[in-house]
Amino acid sequence: ATPAALVAGAGAGAKAGILVRDIDALERAAKIDAVIFDKTGTLTAGRPALVATEAIDGDGSRLLALAAAIERGSEHPLGKAVVEAAEGQGLRIHEAFNIRAHSGDGVSGEVEGAKVAVGGLRLLASLGVHTAPIEPMLARQAAQARTAVAVSEGRRAKGVLAFADAPRPSAAQAVGRLRALGIEVVMLTGDSAEAAAPIARAVGISRVEAGQRPADKLVAIERLKAEGSRVAMVGDGVNDAPALAAADLGIAMGGGADVALESAGVALLRPDPALAGAAIELSRRTVRTIR
Ligand code: ADP
Ligand code: MG
Repeated sequence: ATPAALVAGAGAGAKAGILVRDIDALERAAKIDAVIFDKTGTLTAGRPALVATEAIDGDGSRLLALAAAIERGSEHPLGKAVVEAAEGQGLRIHEAFNIRAHSGDGVSGEVEGAKVAVGGLRLLASLGVHTAPIEPMLARQAAQARTAVAVSEGRRAKGVLAFADAPRPSAAQAVGRLRALGIEVVMLTGDSAEAAAPIARAVGISRVEAGQRPADKLVAIERLKAEGSRVAMVGDGVNDAPALAAADLGIAMGGGADVALESAGVALLRPDPALAGAAIELSRRTVRTIR
């Protein structure tokens, strides 16, 4: 690969909305044979809508306001959706203190002197919350393919907020195009298997690994590499940064978190999953010209 050809390739990429941040990445992209997509915000629009609220004590408004207090300032699409829903309902949101993000699991903090957590069962359980009362709620929401988030106050589970997030319009076509290039496509998500399955089906992905924390995503990538694959990871979130850095090629979605961008060799200027395949095609063309 001559430097001149790579520079020309990078220039062509920029015109197409593909920013090559690391010129070697453009060369590496030609050899990719497996592409891993994060789900939320990458294959889906990442603008989850609140579709159900189930409160143990029947007070759904208080449940949502409590969650919003903790999520205010959250960078996560689910966190933003919680705050938006609470504001949309005109709820009074209390101030929260000692906010802590539990990467890939949720958020915790203090509201009016009580410890409050918002996230998955794993997070609540790790904080000593008695989760049995809300487990049927979570199961019911998951069975409807929704992304369910649990809320606790003190050691009590308070209820569940359920969200729906639609696939991005170009996601199915993006997956089809990668397949046509002979590339294996995998979905890696922190969400539940039940919530991931309908999205995977809609976009045409058959290999799905769910319940993956950022560290698990790393392990999954290392495993694919050990199987002999040259792996590209496409992600948007803070949670995806380690995986983007670990892959042979990191591709950051447009509009995602800054950390994701900094960990990737290629950045997409628009949040369009089809640009991931376009980047690989560009790379193959660029490398072919050189030889
Ligand atoms: P994905 O891998 O699909 O992008 P994430 O790893 O970002 O998903 O999130 C996975 C799960 O972690 C969510 O489904 C949710 O249960 C929990 N979670 C993470 N961050 C938050 C948050 N800020 N608020 C609520 N739940 C969260
Ligand atoms: Mg994501």
